Amino acid sequence: MLDVLRRITQEVDAARDLNIALDIIVDRVQSAMGTEVCSVYLLDDESKQYVFMATRGLNTEMVGKVTLELDEGLVGLVGERAEPVNLHNASRHPRYHYVGELGEEKYESFLGVPIIHHRKVLGVIVVQQTGRRRFDESEEAFLITLSAQLAGIIVHAQATGAFTISGVAADLPASRFPGTAGAPGVAIGTSIVIYPEADLYQVPERTTKKIKSEKKIFRNAVKEVRAEIRKLGSRLSDRLQPEELTLFDAYQRMLDETAITGEVIERIDQGVWSQTALRQVIEAHVASFEALDDHYMRERGSDVLDLGQRILTKLQSKEERKRTYPRGTVLIGDDLTPGMLAEVPRSKLAGLVSVSGSGSSHVAILAKAMGVPTVMGVEDLPLHLLEEKPIIVDGFDGVVITYPNKDQLALYKRIVKEEAAFVEGLEPLKDERCETKDGHRVLLWVNTGLMTDVARSLDRGAEGVGLYRTEVHFMMNDRFPTEEEQRLIYRKHLKAFSPRQVTMRTLDIGGDKALSYFPIQEENPFLGWRGIRVTLDHPEIFLAQVRAMIKATEGVDAYLRIMLPMVSSIAEVDEAQRLISQCYREIVEEGVEVEMPDVGVMIEVPAAVYQARDIVKRVDFLSVGSNDLIQYMLAVDRNNSRVAELYQDFHPAVLQALKQVVDAAHSERKPVGICGEMAGNPSAAILLTAMGYDVLSMNSTNLLMVKWVIRSFEMTRAKKMLNKVLKMDNAFLIKSYVEDEMRKAGLGQLIHSRPVAVV
Ligand code: PEP
Ligand code: MG
Repeated sequence: MLDVLRRITQEVDAARDLNIALDIIVDRVQSAMGTEVCSVYLLDDESKQYVFMATRGLNTEMVGKVTLELDEGLVGLVGERAEPVNLHNASRHPRYHYVGELGEEKYESFLGVPIIHHRKVLGVIVVQQTGRRRFDESEEAFLITLSAQLAGIIVHAQATGAFTISGVAADLPASRFPGTAGAPGVAIGTSIVIYPEADLYQVPERTTKKIKSEKKIFRNAVKEVRAEIRKLGSRLSDRLQPEELTLFDAYQRMLDETAITGEVIERIDQGVWSQTALRQVIEAHVASFEALDDHYMRERGSDVLDLGQRILTKLQSKEERKRTYPRGTVLIGDDLTPGMLAEVPRSKLAGLVSVSGSGSSHVAILAKAMGVPTVMGVEDLPLHLLEEKPIIVDGFDGVVITYPNKDQLALYKRIVKEEAAFVEGLEPLKDERCETKDGHRVLLWVNTGLMTDVARSLDRGAEGVGLYRTEVHFMMNDRFPTEEEQRLIYRKHLKAFSPRQVTMRTLDIGGDKALSYFPIQEENPFLGWRGIRVTLDHPEIFLAQVRAMIKATEGVDAYLRIMLPMVSSIAEVDEAQRLISQCYREIVEEGVEVEMPDVGVMIEVPAAVYQARDIVKRVDFLSVGSNDLIQYMLAVDRNNSRVAELYQDFHPAVLQALKQVVDAAHSERKPVGICGEMAGNPSAAILLTAMGYDVLSMNSTNLLMVKWVIRSFEMTRAKKMLNKVLKMDNAFLIKSYVEDEMRKAGLGQLIHSRPVAVV
């Protein structure tokens, strides 16, 4: 059964046209279950009716014509209940509804299963039989399992319904793809797909003008693969039976001009890029093999795929990966990483779209710091069809629009204008003090990672750096940077912010931050070898970095603070302190004149919240990393778009923990800040101020908005709000209460997903 399920879902997944997909479903289910009828009804969101979409066994002429109201018939009943309905005498059921044109009167056995995606009923899949028999439990289970797997694929096919599997895709109609807001702002530009190498299915739909050279590259790649196969065959000739060796001849034949090679060349002749043409041809072959019932023939599908992969590897080894990017590039990819960001010159980069990840993924955080509008977790985006296409990225609402029409373009151009006016309106706040109306002072610092952040930060009146993510520099290298290389970079940073305080975090890799030259393979990376755990296990890396940080301060009028990430025990703090003291001693002994920096700990793990007081006794300051703290407290993966809604700044447990950390630090008379994204959330910032946080450190984009909020409240009023909030038990209610208070304080413009300019 598993094999059948796998095959059906693979086939449906490969069919990028909704009608083809549904046709495959009814055909394969009918034959796998041996039923007389299988049909699919899909819910049309506009008309709020079920539409008869595909069938085997009923009248195919009625496909697309018959509709059922939501409360009509047994199909309506399945949708209403959101659970299967299994009947052996359907016509006697009070909800039975006879539709003459379908020709279903003779079928007495009925099994209908809902197709559900993200709690929403998308449609119903129905099997029917003439005899009076109840479908048994295993049949019901089969259909439920299949339906659960198909739901996502149907949503995807629905979104990309204009395409066929064969040939060059038609143009994508204007489509709206929802995701999660990653970094605010709107980008109107051209999509460029960035994809991992050596995965045939990820090759995008790309065209070429260099037909002659593409054909040559392709033929050479095939020649090399032929030689490789020949070598493989002769190496195995003494171990395999002659009939098994014929497989290698079959491979060679598949590569003939009359087979795969010829088909690919034909497509290149039509202007299709060689890798795309190869993907299209291989996909079509695999799909037709997979559709066959014969197990032996299905296996040939894997052979074709293997051949395709081999040719692709050769093609990619020849291709110059460095490409030129047009102005207004919107980089899109399955899983964008911070490293990929660096590939596009900043002046060309307009926006980012990632199929996976969420607003608290590191790539989104970097994008925020750089001011690049970003949408994350756009699960249904047809990546392969988005090569160099017009696109709008709405980083406020978390929406991507492909092939925008005139109205959409006009709307978004207006939003861009309003946003610019809004930012300009905040400009005068730049030189104002950040304090509440009744004089309570809060320090507004910035989070940095790239040198490009520096100018933006200073321009917006940053009073210091609360988090310098040193790993960004490590990620852009192809080996560990030397102590001297690091010293120079850190010195530049310190000088740029002089005489302000600069908080440098020691290397925080692991989780979703990987170094290409230091791969960490783990089942559960966020609970694995991350942050301080890695660097304490590699003191040579830690010592070189700390030495570079301390030495960088020589002769610079700046104030260095060193911060330790992902601390979960006192032992880690003690060990790190010992190593830092060792560095300082050595440097002084070398005759370099430097001060011992302040050392602080990030509170990112629930264990550290409970031990905040023990920790702060040993160090100079604390800083809450709310991005990770929320993830670990709520057990919600910060990168998983499926649970993004459960990732809540205003969760009562999170607020209690945050309050506990301030109290712990202040009871030891030590300063405490927060450097997670929450600090830059205008509504959260006022609660954090009321809690007593001394420093709010955020991406420079939000700095002036937060200053505006703090300057609009009296501390006494903020504290009253906080007291009320701390007694509430529901994140949604807390959020709406705080937003209400913001409106009352005249800050209504900040409540919308995008700030509204008064123009
Ligand atoms: C955090 O976890 O809140 C934090 C600031 O660190 P990062 O986002 O780099 O993990
Ligand atoms: Mg963190």
